[in-house]
Amino acid sequence: MTKSTEIQKQRPLLEGQGIPNFKEITPLQIKDDLSSLLRELNKNFTGLEQELEKKLNDKRSLIWGEVMTPLHNLSERLRWSWGVVCHLNSVCNTSELREAHSSQQPEVVRFSNRVGQSKTIYRSLCSLRDQSIHTFNQTQKRILEAELLSMKQLGVGLDEANQKQFNIASERLAELSTIFSNNVLDATKDWSLRLTQKSDISGLPIRALEILADSAKEYGDKSEDNSLPTAEAGPWRIGLDIPRYIPFMTHGINRELRECLYKAHVSRASKGKLDNRTLIREILSLRSKQAKRLGYTNWAELSLCNKMATDVEAVEDLLEELRCAAIPVAQKELEALSDCASRCEAKEASNLAPWDISFWSERLKQEKFELNQEELRPWFPLPQVLDGLFNLCERLFEIKIQKADGEAPVWHQDVQFFKVRNQNEIDLAYFYLDPYCRPSNKRGGAWMDECLGKSKSNNGETVLPVAYLICNQTPPTKEKPSLMSFEEVETLFHEFGHGLQHMLTQVEYPQAAGINNIEWDAVELPSQFMENWCLDKKTLAGMAKHWKTGEPLADKEFKKLQLSRTFNSGFATLRQVHFALTDIRLHSKWNDGLDITPDELRRQIAENTTLIPPIEEDQFLCAFSHIFAGGYAAGYYSYKWAEVLSADAYAAFEEVDSNNENLIKNIGQRFRDTVLSQGGSQSPQAIFKAFRGRAPNTKALIRHSGLSIKTSNCIE
Ligand code: ZN
Repeated sequence: MTKSTEIQKQRPLLEGQGIPNFKEITPLQIKDDLSSLLRELNKNFTGLEQELEKKLNDKRSLIWGEVMTPLHNLSERLRWSWGVVCHLNSVCNTSELREAHSSQQPEVVRFSNRVGQSKTIYRSLCSLRDQSIHTFNQTQKRILEAELLSMKQLGVGLDEANQKQFNIASERLAELSTIFSNNVLDATKDWSLRLTQKSDISGLPIRALEILADSAKEYGDKSEDNSLPTAEAGPWRIGLDIPRYIPFMTHGINRELRECLYKAHVSRASKGKLDNRTLIREILSLRSKQAKRLGYTNWAELSLCNKMATDVEAVEDLLEELRCAAIPVAQKELEALSDCASRCEAKEASNLAPWDISFWSERLKQEKFELNQEELRPWFPLPQVLDGLFNLCERLFEIKIQKADGEAPVWHQDVQFFKVRNQNEIDLAYFYLDPYCRPSNKRGGAWMDECLGKSKSNNGETVLPVAYLICNQTPPTKEKPSLMSFEEVETLFHEFGHGLQHMLTQVEYPQAAGINNIEWDAVELPSQFMENWCLDKKTLAGMAKHWKTGEPLADKEFKKLQLSRTFNSGFATLRQVHFALTDIRLHSKWNDGLDITPDELRRQIAENTTLIPPIEEDQFLCAFSHIFAGGYAAGYYSYKWAEVLSADAYAAFEEVDSNNENLIKNIGQRFRDTVLSQGGSQSPQAIFKAFRGRAPNTKALIRHSGLSIKTSNCIE
């Protein structure tokens, strides 16, 4: 062993390439090694700037390898090391690790900003674009344009005075979004109500009561005889956080309490010192000013110029199409709820209020399907679901997925390692699967992330992609394997779709390989596409067998699963349309000089995007964190946009005879050659067209959602 590899072995965070040695990484190393890495990167970056500056001053033409390659190498060094730290922080968190992570974060952000706002880099990129655009291929052009755009949006092209203003406003916007989200959190936390009577909680399942009793305990509540709260005897404390709010609105029979809880929920952060209304005005005005500084008409235009949707009109058109399709269905759904309430002789039957919708929906669902998701779990043990998923991938994309446990270090004993091979047994990629929830040290939710991206190493060897697939499903017990809910199965397929795009990429440039450089409103295409297969008869029948007896899932259960997918989808679609329209119009049509408040604008939109208008207390915007404290400003429509693509892509398979394996294989191969292989190397429009032979349309999504196809002459 040479001396340098020996040193690297002691500093696993600085290896910068290959599969990370997770077990060897300690919080102390993170602090030491990250700081020295950042020092080195800053030094190298200064060197790169000086070199480029000299070449620019000499009026020499620059070439790709002089700018893009060193720039990528720098950011890849940081991505590799910081990626490992962030990954560990998410999947095996400890207070020491968290502390090490947050101690390094500001320096990491500072370095990224330095690169993003470097005038020298910007001028070099412009020079590349101007001088040699004719010699670049489509992928290089796209990478360059995306890089320039992101720098432009960071304010790099502004003169000094304007850039100063821009930076001040950016910082203020960051601060406002933190205050906004803290206000929502505090308002959510501040409201609660102690319940003591059995009649208060009637209808609630025991799992929900346990949560309410636990929160009463935390609150210091006692029962009348001074004993501690229990799920059975109370007292219980309801609140506005999702785990307490949703079950009460869905199951709580006491209507007055539902009303009270609902009103508290929709008026969060709209009063007193937690009032977000003035913040909303300031955020919207600042964004509008920032957009204008950068040369855009409004924030929506800025947001859309790196998305697949071309302009506000395209977004509005899509939402209008969905709205028209959803309205008549939602009206029928509302009638069905009223009918259900009147069968139960509820006095609100003819006059349902917003706080009745979830409740009667649940009743109707029980009446219609008797679908109990919990009871289906024994049919979905993880090993069998994985077999089903892998067989599907082999069938569609001609890849083989094999266990490779022990071939790479893991961060936890439950983590599995797999290899993806082609038909000739050649390795194409690898992935980790960390399936089970570990509430004490693993972040909730599910995600796919890149461990290694496809690229060429310094000595010209191909680096194969490696993906992290993280889920949070039910763990196994001593007696039973992990028995998954159908929702957990869908989540696994979803993340695997992202993983396939990462792992099957054929793009030679790492900046556009895998999921890199893909427009944000198109990135959910492969993931939602894969979800569709969970309800494909052949796929489902292949994996849904009782873990003990091997008995296949009964046909009637399969039908229920299919039916439940479109249950109340008119409501669900309208809701998303309402949010998306409000978002896009606030960022395109609204400005501070208008005679209308953001809330009034929202109420105008509600006139034809809701069936029950928002009540007076409803100040939903004050808690719309997606757009005021998250990254969804003028981007909320992306949920629906990507769903159009994924449904339409899946429909290509539905259009052929499902028993004709050759046809299915051909389409699968085409999906692999286009969407999965070409990722961010071309525009999503071009890639979709290469797969489907035409531009995407909404027909499949409307059909899958059980909405009405007739979309013309809608006057509602
Ligand atoms: Zn996703």
